[in-house]
Amino acid sequence: MRIDIFTIFPGMFTGPFEESIIKRAVERGIVNIYIHNIRDYATDKHHITDDYPYGGGPGMVMKPEPIFAAVESVREQALRGGEDTRYPVILMTPQGRVLSQKKVDELAQEHFLAFICGHYEGVDERVREHLVTDEISIGDYVLSVGELPAMVVVDAVVRRLPGALGSELSVVEESFAQGLLEYPHYTRPPEFRGWVVPEILLSGNHGAIARWRRERSLLRTWRRRPDLLEKVELTPEDRKFLERIKREGISSADALE
Ligand code: SAH
Repeated sequence: MRIDIFTIFPGMFTGPFEESIIKRAVERGIVNIYIHNIRDYATDKHHITDDYPYGGGPGMVMKPEPIFAAVESVREQALRGGEDTRYPVILMTPQGRVLSQKKVDELAQEHFLAFICGHYEGVDERVREHLVTDEISIGDYVLSVGELPAMVVVDAVVRRLPGALGSELSVVEESFAQGLLEYPHYTRPPEFRGWVVPEILLSGNHGAIARWRRERSLLRTWRRRPDLLEKVELTPEDRKFLERIKREGISSADALE
């Protein structure tokens, strides 16, 4: 996969992209990430990228010309010589569709992804209308920069690319993968300050452990995100467990956790 990021603060990406899973994925050639400074595509003497809003009001608006020039030139370069013609251009904006694991998985299928990071009041509407193919929000709150949400999306996408994580199994089991929140994790020591690891996890009984994890996953989801349970496929065993928990109430759920 190739990812192009369009920003007026390229320095924000050093650090987050040079550690951990993204770093490893880049080193393994699973993804190429290019950071483009929109300012380099402004043709005026002072390389201006923002201006006052028409109609008045507070703040500044990012100008369309440098953004169009940057994305069009990089897109042409990326597509040149290849068979691909799809080049999704994603605008990070609190007005976009809120990111979900499903959306992340769709994005992970693409060969190219481009992200435009907004600032100040945002970008000139013509960018949204005539350049952007997709608008993504990372939640119902307003950040001051589009760089942070772009990093969030890139991280979520890259870890879904084959080979990016140490173990592919972690992707299958983790939260949202099956529509549920993940079960709790423990590691050594078996006892810490008197708090012990659930005995079943030390039992070596894989069937019992799998069942325990499934039940904890169901329990967590029911308590924290009951909305998720409405969309998920449940086995008859799952249903029986949930019915028991619902019947016996929160106190019995507490005893289980
Ligand atoms: N005035 C705009 C908000 C601008 S916030 C409005 O009311 O819609 C400045 C920039 O931060 C945006 O252009 C966008 O790129 C980014 N941003 C802020 N909050 C975001 C969110 N929840 N999701 C994605 N991008 C966000």
